[in-house]
Amino acid sequence: MTDNFTMPFAGGTIDHVETQRSPAELQAFVAKPQARCVIFHKGAPALRESGGLHRIHPSELIGRNLIDPGPIFLGLEGETPLFAASLQNPEDVTHQDNFKDLRSATRFLSPEEMALAGRAKSLLDWHFNHRFCAKCGQVSQPEAGGIKRKCPSCETEHFPRVNPVVIMLILSGDKVLLGRGAGWPEGAMSALAGFISPGESMEEAVARETFEEVGIRIKNPRYIFSQPWPWPSQLMMGVACEAESKELTINKDELEDAKWFTRDEVQAVYNKTGEAFLRLPRFTIAHHLLRHWLET
Ligand SMILES: [Zn+2]
Repeated sequence: MTDNFTMPFAGGTIDHVETQRSPAELQAFVAKPQARCVIFHKGAPALRESGGLHRIHPSELIGRNLIDPGPIFLGLEGETPLFAASLQNPEDVTHQDNFKDLRSATRFLSPEEMALAGRAKSLLDWHFNHRFCAKCGQVSQPEAGGIKRKCPSCETEHFPRVNPVVIMLILSGDKVLLGRGAGWPEGAMSALAGFISPGESMEEAVARETFEEVGIRIKNPRYIFSQPWPWPSQLMMGVACEAESKELTINKDELEDAKWFTRDEVQAVYNKTGEAFLRLPRFTIAHHLLRHWLET
């Protein structure tokens, strides 16, 4: 892994300024001439035709129908206050075709803008899906520019959720185990992954998920690197481990198939000289876990 590598959706450069979010401070930020807002529709960011995120002044949103919670304050990019909002009607701001699913939008965004778009998407999704107080059921209200919600009835504060997931490089000698879910494109394979359960360490989740999905025991789990994943808000934690056996008992409720691939087969896929499986998109941590394995 090279020193200047940035994991896709990580490497954000904005200051979240969590200590300057009073109503008066937010009003001052939104009124600045250089303030900008990135725009979403149904989770898809608007892009400029020349590439990069479409940015407008927040005042251009006045009179538009915005999805709850309205504009949220992402933070400062240098001296530029940056907001994000989700529009009911995309044509209010730019042509509908300029809104791209974030997976395909990654081809047109710098690493910094991918991080910005991922953070914005995760926060907007969280607000949209957590409008009611989980304690008493009342409608809660966004606070502090959208970094939390508060219930006006019981006064409970609710904070954005990040869900931890382990994603595994399961190794045996010079082979790695990859699997595929039902309905994936033909030839698509990826590293096995699963949510961490309450009361479980990252290492224990790796062992449990591997046994549940393919029926093998593992040893020596070791953390490699992680990735924020904005569908809707996961932290993917890459872990390598060694299989204690190779014979698979595939849980068909979880996986359609799983197979061992040799280092040469994986290298050929990355060199585009082999087709043992479809090469994983560069914006996925699984792509970088396999590349990391090939380089070590
Ligand atoms: Zn409440």
